[in-house]
Amino acid sequence: MLAEIIAVGSELLTPFRQDTNSLFLTESLNGVGVTVAFKTIVGDREAHIAQAITVALGRCDLVFLMGGLGPTADDLTREAVAAALGIRLKRDGDVLAALYKRFAERRASMPSNNTRQAEILEGAEVLPNPHGTAPGQWLDIVFGGHRKLLVLLPGPPRELKPMMTEECLPRLREALPPRAIARRVLKIAMLGESDVDARIAPIYGRFSDVETTILAKPGEIEVHLLCSKAILEVAQGRVNELASRIEEEMEDAIYSSQGEALEEIVLYYLQMRGATLAVAESCTGGLLSERLTRVSGSSRAFQGGAVVYSNELKTQLADVPEELIEEHGAVSRDVAEALAHGVRRRASATIGVGITGIAGPSGGTEEKPVGTVYIGIADGKEQTVVERRFRGDRERIRYLATQQALDMLRRKLM
Ligand code: ATP
Ligand code: MG
Repeated sequence: MLAEIIAVGSELLTPFRQDTNSLFLTESLNGVGVTVAFKTIVGDREAHIAQAITVALGRCDLVFLMGGLGPTADDLTREAVAAALGIRLKRDGDVLAALYKRFAERRASMPSNNTRQAEILEGAEVLPNPHGTAPGQWLDIVFGGHRKLLVLLPGPPRELKPMMTEECLPRLREALPPRAIARRVLKIAMLGESDVDARIAPIYGRFSDVETTILAKPGEIEVHLLCSKAILEVAQGRVNELASRIEEEMEDAIYSSQGEALEEIVLYYLQMRGATLAVAESCTGGLLSERLTRVSGSSRAFQGGAVVYSNELKTQLADVPEELIEEHGAVSRDVAEALAHGVRRRASATIGVGITGIAGPSGGTEEKPVGTVYIGIADGKEQTVVERRFRGDRERIRYLATQQALDMLRRKLM
């Protein structure tokens, strides 16, 4: 079953508005086993909308149109469908009565424009819209000798979403063979996309019934697994089997297999071990603390820390000896280690983290170019310092530094 989603609205072709409805529709459709094969965005011109409809019906079984069902002159979706299919629009008495009633309940008189919203395509089923004035329309038609479904939905998300969930999905479940979809997301930190793919492609290549997608984000690779079967347990079984094979190959590189964020995992491990954490951040300016405190309940393990941007504060708040900074420079292995130790001791935490680096774009030298970051972790018994050379702009380098620190913490606590 292939679907096409057509978003109608000239504003969606400007830099100011985005089509977000189609994300919701795609998720809903995937849930009943329908694959979205195309998305189209078309402006408020009747001929263009009609053209888009004809093309979509020529290549998909299911076509969803959204937007352009309002009362104003630029709402042309109904007319465009009528033109594309060569069918008529008829004013529906019940819909019109419901519109009058809706306005009467709000003690307003209905503008004559709104009567356009009672125009229903010949043969269409009306989809009620309790959250707005434009009803949806459901058309079961034959086009080019094949049975097709064409669905018209209102544009505003608060009207479209309940109409999709309450009216369309039950009809689709009835019309389509039963399908259940199982998904899982495996997350891997601090490895490159091609590295990951080279290692797991031979594995997922053997699971032709599981759709595997690799998504690269800064400092993180997500492996999305999706399987669609008539029976949910069967689909889940396949996804789980592939997930375990990938986990065997990638071992502890995989930090989450149920979609959790890296900071959530780190906090979870800290709590499990009854450990606490304090951080001294220079080039990341508090970003690591921000990421940790974004997780609700983080106070159980995260004590806090200091943003020690100047050399003076590195000494005052994290006890980094002045001579150490003079000798090795503020961006150095020794200072990262001293920051971790100092903040750990000051906070009486189980673990301390120190980050120092050059986020750029200025400040790099030949020896320590932009992107050089040292991350230290100390627990009172042993310490680790990692030196990295990250590429990218200031924002990316700072983010990668926090990602590296979190991944080091995770590995230490595992
Ligand atoms: P109305 O009766 O409000 O005119 P309509 O069905 O004619 O509804 P549009 O006029 O196309 O819908 O859009 C109304 C509003 O809904 C837009 O201003 C926009 O905020 C939102 N909207 C429309 N289409 C989308 C979309 N694809 N994604 C996200 N928001 C959308
Ligand atoms: Mg409109």
